[in-house]
Amino acid sequence: MTGAPILEIDALTKRFGGFIALNAVSLAIGEGERVGLIGPNGSGKSTLVNCIAGVLRPESGRIRFAGSDIGDLAPFQRTRAGIARSFQIPQPFASMSVIENLCIPLEYAGAGWKRRHGDIRAAAREILADCGLAAKAEALPASLTQIELRKLELARAVAAHPRLLIADEAMAGLSSAEVEEVLSLLFALSARGITIVMIEHIMHAVMRFSQRIVVLDAGRKIAEGKPDDIVRDPAAERAYLGE
Ligand code: ADP
Ligand code: MG
Repeated sequence: MTGAPILEIDALTKRFGGFIALNAVSLAIGEGERVGLIGPNGSGKSTLVNCIAGVLRPESGRIRFAGSDIGDLAPFQRTRAGIARSFQIPQPFASMSVIENLCIPLEYAGAGWKRRHGDIRAAAREILADCGLAAKAEALPASLTQIELRKLELARAVAAHPRLLIADEAMAGLSSAEVEEVLSLLFALSARGITIVMIEHIMHAVMRFSQRIVVLDAGRKIAEGKPDDIVRDPAAERAYLGE
């Protein structure tokens, strides 16, 4: 881990009925770090994101963000505290234009943005330009291509002005050229100081992006380390071969 921890997860356990989706998972992420979270389908990655975002309540364990326990905060309070996530399946507001989709999280991010940027729409245009969506500002989500929808999903997360961005399978189903586009967008966000957790099945992308990789299998953290070490890790290999 580089830098002071921005996110500290301690012995997090989440059950769905009798099924243990997360089993005493502990994890620390440094401010500004790029971390890959990998694991076979059903290993608990999205469940972990949902617990961090406050959508799911764990049965036990603690989550600290920027030094404070956030376990009792509602999802919107966690967003305001600086945690943003993009969804595996893009979830734009279908009846609103691309730019309007950004104005909502911008308003939501609170007075700080308004003071700094004055005009919400101007701030939205800036984010759309950063995300390669400037030409689509007035389009409806239904008219966007798959890659444009993924970019919109990330742009909406960025509009919440996050310190930590969790990108849940932002590249699934994209062509290799499109994967490169999303990768460079995430690298650019990282260069601005945003801590990024990338959940991804596209191994070459997550290995290139991440300074550190965490591997989940059946709700447990089974390996953690530099990408070069993870590709040689026997437990990580077994988890993937067993899939
Ligand atoms: P991943 O994102 O790693 O593919 P998930 O976190 O989505 O895995 O799911 C982990 C396990 O928990 C899976 O077996 C899944 O079926 C189960 N699960 C996830 N969400 C729910 C839910 N809301 N209710 C019941 N089971 C769930
Ligand atoms: Mg998932």
